[in-house]
Amino acid sequence: MFVKENLIKIKNNLPANVKLIAVSKKQPHAVIKEAYNFGHLDFGENYVQELVDKQLILPKDIRWHFIGHLQSNKVKYIAPFVHLIHGVDSVSLLLEINKQAKKNNRVINCLLQIHIAQELTKFGFSIDDCFDLFESNLLLKLENVKIIGFMAMASNTDDKMQIKKEFQSLNIFSKKTQIYNQNDFCLSMGMSEDYNLAIEEGSNMVRIGSLIFGQRQ
Ligand SMILES: *Cc1c(COP(=O)(O)O)cnc(C)c1O
Repeated sequence: MFVKENLIKIKNNLPANVKLIAVSKKQPHAVIKEAYNFGHLDFGENYVQELVDKQLILPKDIRWHFIGHLQSNKVKYIAPFVHLIHGVDSVSLLLEINKQAKKNNRVINCLLQIHIAQELTKFGFSIDDCFDLFESNLLLKLENVKIIGFMAMASNTDDKMQIKKEFQSLNIFSKKTQIYNQNDFCLSMGMSEDYNLAIEEGSNMVRIGSLIFGQRQ
């Protein structure tokens, strides 16, 4: 029963405008069901095969968020049902999502992943590349994807000032873009360890796993 208690604790402390994505990767169906029965509908997954398996079995009104690194050749498996793709990190991936969305006769909402961390290993567009993408009119031609915001991960460090600075850089950037003014604008930043800092820096969508479900298997 701890899942429900954890959810209550977190939700009670979130500002009203911040959406909670329960990150259920590597967690069994039973704990997802527990959160679902409590009324939670937004879940985040990182692996395509795992997500496809869960979507088949779990309730159909769950909103599945793909938050991991997505390979272009796997877009087709999640295109029929995915609610929001958080980690769009290249133009070629965007083109493939558009193609598969079209095949499924839908518009898929996407967030552009922006590289804000110091680490070289994290995926994502640089802020400059992202500006260039908005300047080009490519996005207007992609009728089956809708960019509704940005996603980022901060450096994996204990240095809170560093994390805050990184989140702040995306917050400042996002306000300079057109999509910031959309009423569905999403700024997906913050995980179990750093979500409070992210919210202070403008996040309105947090992706929390271990604080809800405990350690992953
Ligand atoms: C796993 C994961 C999370 C959740 O991490 P926790 O530390 O368990 O909250 C959030 N975002 C992404 C992109 C992840 O891969």
